[in-house]
Amino acid sequence: MSGRLIVISNRIPTEAEPSGGLVVAMHAALCNHGGIWIGAHPEVTEAPSSHLEEIGDQTSYTRLAFRIAQREHEEFYLGFANSVLWPVCHRRGDLVDLKRSFETTYGEVNKRLARLIMEVVEPEDLIWIQDYHFFPLASELRKLGFEGRLGFFLHIPFPALGDLGALPQTANLADWLADYDLVGLQTRADVARCLEMFRAQRRAEVMLDGRIKYGARVFSVRSFPIGIDVDTFVKAATEGCDSADLGDDLKEEYIIGVDRLDYSKGLPNRFRSFAQYLEKRPNKDRRVSLLQIAPPTREEVTAYRQIRVELEELAGRLNGQHAELDWTPLRYIHRNIDRNLLAKLYRGARVGMVTPLADGMNLVAKEYIAAQDPEDPGVLVLSQLAGAAEDLTEALLVNPYDIEGMAEAIAKALDMPLAERKRRYAACMTMVDKTDVAIWCKSFIAALEACEAPLAWGTVA
Ligand code: ADP
Repeated sequence: MSGRLIVISNRIPTEAEPSGGLVVAMHAALCNHGGIWIGAHPEVTEAPSSHLEEIGDQTSYTRLAFRIAQREHEEFYLGFANSVLWPVCHRRGDLVDLKRSFETTYGEVNKRLARLIMEVVEPEDLIWIQDYHFFPLASELRKLGFEGRLGFFLHIPFPALGDLGALPQTANLADWLADYDLVGLQTRADVARCLEMFRAQRRAEVMLDGRIKYGARVFSVRSFPIGIDVDTFVKAATEGCDSADLGDDLKEEYIIGVDRLDYSKGLPNRFRSFAQYLEKRPNKDRRVSLLQIAPPTREEVTAYRQIRVELEELAGRLNGQHAELDWTPLRYIHRNIDRNLLAKLYRGARVGMVTPLADGMNLVAKEYIAAQDPEDPGVLVLSQLAGAAEDLTEALLVNPYDIEGMAEAIAKALDMPLAERKRRYAACMTMVDKTDVAIWCKSFIAALEACEAPLAWGTVA
């Protein structure tokens, strides 16, 4: 690679040895190529910073942070990013909270960040921008004269054409994306939706080689399904204590769910389907519990507080109806769990339930598969509306709106013969291996490097 790699993401690891699949993969890529990782400082300040601060211990690349002021946190992060773009991309137009100040601050933060990036970037550097917080960053960098290669990866679903009308007029996704050289999306279905948006634009032309010509710009939109750090996860699931040592309660059969407490994760329907399974199960002596781990997030946003209240009510009702003196069917934990323990909890679970109403990929689905014992694997019940369903076609696919269907899938998964479980696990594991996060990272960078920089700058007839 000629230039350095510059990664921009909202979150930035503060420790020298980061954990978490994506962070580990970026860390490895930056160690290999050398470069800079730029992100928002975890601490919010009174006034926005006017320069980038070096953070963390020195490693083979530099980590630089910009500070977000409290007002920006409210209007840019909680506001435009998470109360406008997030619900629009997750098909929840009803939860969109449009305020002029949100869009203004979103634009301002991106503008300021572009100025800060220009102070450290060199013309031959490769810039890779992560996620919906920074859609307009390429346009801002181009305005400031950056002519090098710019890549973007969207971790969440690409919105449907019909849902784009819920965005304010200033949020023109087509204009924003056209200033990148490479736009990476999670799935083929996301690419199809993105192309549909461009086809609806008079200025855009989808060329024979699949690239898009948009005014004077030419760029590519491709899918790069993200995955997990498979080896590390398999190790975490198998080394150290046995899943049987996790505690007396977990010696019984259990189903596991692990999700941020987000309305896109379909948790109310999951609880309802588990209640229905309990009601209909033929053998009332069979005690299968649901262990749901759901740490709260973004609680400053009303929709997130509401989903928490709804779930607590559903959980209370479910346990009230089905609990016995010595058995609690739903165990609902609102905390983060150590990743080694999490891996073992997945391994001990007969069923993994991943039933989002919409999800860019869903890494929990891949973690659950990677954690299984190949000789006696559990069964993944997976929403067909999660990006992961495009590759994990041998999971038990369900419609997360169909509560009866999900209750039947729970029963089927719990009774599935060993041979079928092994066959389905092996097929899923092949895909989990194929989409390892290191492969994801390398293939995106290779594709961005292969973009012809000069073509991208208005030289097309
Ligand atoms: P999202 O990015 O929308 O939260 P993903 O399923 O793609 O959804 O990724 C979630 C990540 O967060 C997974 O790696 C998962 O293991 C981790 N995670 C979720 N809940 C917890 C928890 N309670 N404790 C520890 N890690 C968690």
